[in-house]
Amino acid sequence: MSRPKVIRCAACAGRIKPRHPHIGVEDLGTGEEFSYHARRGCQTRAVEETATRLRVGKVYVMRHYHSPLCPDESPGPECAGGCFDSAMAA
Ligand SMILES: [Zn+2]
Ligand SMILES: [Zn+2]
Repeated sequence: MSRPKVIRCAACAGRIKPRHPHIGVEDLGTGEEFSYHARRGCQTRAVEETATRLRVGKVYVMRHYHSPLCPDESPGPECAGGCFDSAMAA
């Protein structure tokens, strides 16, 4: 039994559809995961908030969840499917 869980964006509080690409930031200490839209503004928030949390000594891993339709087999921020805005190229 697995109910599809509602994912909300930690930046804009909007709902993220499960089949849409999004970003997950997992707290390796608690297993809690923050999700963000793949769109530019929310990505920027994800980067800023993660940087803030890292400063207080927490350890995070950032994941890119691609659309199921994405043709790219090696997931990354820059994929062949164009899932993510390229704001994170730092
Ligand atoms: Zn958002
Ligand atoms: Zn993709």
